[in-house]
Amino acid sequence: MRKTILTGLRPTGNLHLGHLFGAGQNYVRLQDDYEFYLEIADVQALTDNFDNPEKVRKNVYEITKDLLAIGLDPEKVNFFIQSKIPEIAELTVYYSNLVTVARLQRNPTVKTEISQKKELFGNSGESITYGFLGYPVSQAADITAFDGEVVPVGDDQLPLLEQCREIVRKFNSIYGDTLKEPEAVLSKNTRIKGLDGNEKMGKSLGNAVYLVDDEETIKKKVMGAVTDPEKIKKDDPANPDVCMVYYYHKLVNNEENINTICSECKKGSRGCVQCKKELIEAMKDFLRPIQERRKFYEENPEEVDKILQKGTEAARSKAIEQMAKVRKAMKIDY
Ligand code: ATP
Ligand code: MG
Repeated sequence: MRKTILTGLRPTGNLHLGHLFGAGQNYVRLQDDYEFYLEIADVQALTDNFDNPEKVRKNVYEITKDLLAIGLDPEKVNFFIQSKIPEIAELTVYYSNLVTVARLQRNPTVKTEISQKKELFGNSGESITYGFLGYPVSQAADITAFDGEVVPVGDDQLPLLEQCREIVRKFNSIYGDTLKEPEAVLSKNTRIKGLDGNEKMGKSLGNAVYLVDDEETIKKKVMGAVTDPEKIKKDDPANPDVCMVYYYHKLVNNEENINTICSECKKGSRGCVQCKKELIEAMKDFLRPIQERRKFYEENPEEVDKILQKGTEAARSKAIEQMAKVRKAMKIDY
């Protein structure tokens, strides 16, 4: 029997190249071999966007189109909307008894995210909401509602998965063997850097190249990329390993070009402006098939609705089945 994958993305913005090389390519690779549930995590997006429901609603469709555009096949992947699965909310309530507040406060992913959200929670974290603190519990519900066995994640998400495994163990020890402990599949690229030299490309870091970016936008972003600071003149030899332009050539260009770029850069026979221009072209070529596929869904929004509806129905019946087991184990199967 095929194992079940559960993974999800919060609909808070379009997908960027970090998502694609980090998570997206991993999804595409795995879609053939698993029973695949892909959650558009609108409930989770609302934990820190509760005052901006339009943003979340709009991005449910944006992110679904992006995911279809990178090559996820709706025949293989069940795309579903989290808020349409009430069993997840129900499980979250039961699991909330199995985890302490202190444990949630110590969760490294939660800690990092709180410190990144100063504008929302303030420096002291005093205004952190109950919902936000509890989102790892809701994520444990996301995974186990579908009997998820395999969860593709980035390394920043590993503590969340560990939290889920702890909840599963606690549940099984109290109510009897019911839930499976999910295992992580780490992406090959766990962290894609930004063109600005930041260790991570991220939405809120303002350094992301989005899959939907047009030529003008790509040009602006690439022309501002960080190169070897030791290279002053056009024909100075430089170190490609500290250059973000080379880093992105390696992601989007072909092997022959990458080798030429590397040796010319080291010799000093290649200027940075030329190298950036070539990167713009390579990035456009790389994004073209993705943007073309996306165009189909932009022009046929009813197809996106159908995909979400079909995936949500499949996910719902899986969750209902799983919930029956949980209710029985907890002796609340009235
Ligand atoms: P935000 O800045 O709002 O946190 P983000 O750009 O980090 O947004 P998320 O929605 O948090 O995007 O990303 C979802 C998941 O995608 C992350 O948990 C991570 O596993 C993966 N991911 C995001 N950015 C990168 C990246 N630069 N490299 C590799 N994986 C990434
Ligand atoms: Mg993030």
